[in-house]
Amino acid sequence: MKQNIGTKCVQAGYTPKNGEPRQIPIVQSTTFKYDTSEDMGKLFDLEASGYFYTRLQNPTNDYVAAKIAALEGGTSGMLTSSGQAANFFALFNLAGCGDHIVSSASIYGGTFNLIKVTMAKMGIETTFVSPDCTEEELNAAFRENTKAVFGETIANPALTVLDIEKFARAAHAHGVPLIIDNTFPTPVNCRPIEWGADIVTHSTTKYMDGHGGAVGGAIVDSGKFDWMAHAEKFPGLCTPDDSYHGITYAEKFGNGGAFITKCTAQLMRDFGSIQSPQNAFLLNLGLESLHVRMPKHVENGQAVAEFLQGRDEVNYVSYPGLPGDKYYALAQKYMGNGGCGVVSFEIKGGRQAAEAFMKKLRLFAIETHVADARSCCLNPATSTHRQMTDEQLAEAGIPAGLIRISCGLEDSADLIADLKQAFEN
Ligand SMILES: *Cc1c(COP(=O)(O)O)cnc(C)c1O
Repeated sequence: MKQNIGTKCVQAGYTPKNGEPRQIPIVQSTTFKYDTSEDMGKLFDLEASGYFYTRLQNPTNDYVAAKIAALEGGTSGMLTSSGQAANFFALFNLAGCGDHIVSSASIYGGTFNLIKVTMAKMGIETTFVSPDCTEEELNAAFRENTKAVFGETIANPALTVLDIEKFARAAHAHGVPLIIDNTFPTPVNCRPIEWGADIVTHSTTKYMDGHGGAVGGAIVDSGKFDWMAHAEKFPGLCTPDDSYHGITYAEKFGNGGAFITKCTAQLMRDFGSIQSPQNAFLLNLGLESLHVRMPKHVENGQAVAEFLQGRDEVNYVSYPGLPGDKYYALAQKYMGNGGCGVVSFEIKGGRQAAEAFMKKLRLFAIETHVADARSCCLNPATSTHRQMTDEQLAEAGIPAGLIRISCGLEDSADLIADLKQAFEN
């Protein structure tokens, strides 16, 4: 029976049988017991599905991964220890030394560093393109050895909105999948697979957990990318894996299962970035109310953005839900119910004004975090980007007076009153 998104948030991924626990069990065990070596051997050979060691897979994690896959409309999913691990695994499962990636330049700083610095050291080159580039510019970024395209639905912290269909068209025209980091809108507000994305990643640390309680990540495969049709580009999926007795993932597990099975069997096995079952349990508690919380984050973000827009102390406000915003039309198209609760604005008077303003806030705490129940704020110029000069900041599109605020689940009138007193005191 077809389920709507809210029902999936509450119930997908785990259906207890007669007499079993109603809430998902936390399987706090590193290992699993078998009667014969033969039984266990079948698991090692991927001939049977089951559990043998939590570094690779754990039932609690798999219940939660199955829920996130259902929310995104994918065929399979996995949890990782963090959002960083999710994006690294999603890319490295396709690209290796000598390969190339096309990525939107407007992405989370941690992911930018991962791709630009660390993956470059592994021999993977990346061409960064503006999310606003023309189709010609986008197509020109591809090379013979390009293996994937990457972007964020709503970018953290720039709040640019990606034209997912434009990026999907270009990726598919060049025979490679589109990977979308959907952390900010969550599947409640946008499901990139419905717009042509092939693989979706998450930092579940943000809205999915939603309470600032557990770092985590997730990867979902749409099952739509035809690996065998592009077998020459993806030998890792389309030729025998010697470390698994010659299994060819795309043949044995099909388009619906090959990507996640390979990612688990090779990358989780070798890098071990597993999420702890305790964290997966906490994440699932967050997911159970995701569809109730997201509309409130959007309502608060919209109210705060509109308030800030009317203040003389403010140069400009970025929020894709504001009709004057550069990304308003794209946000309306891809996120009809709104995007998220993160708003950024430039206060007049640069870093001094930003620091003085933030010191006076009572409800918005100064944090390097976004997207949980409690509102918070950050001035990049005096924190995450403090090594940069004013000129370098301006070049990066981050003026010294930029303040990023994340609207939590408090009452919007109280949030606005807090901002108002900080402007006026
Ligand atoms: C926070 C974030 C990440 C990194 O996630 P961690 O869980 O902190 O490792 C990746 N992408 C986006 C969009 C993020 O906001």
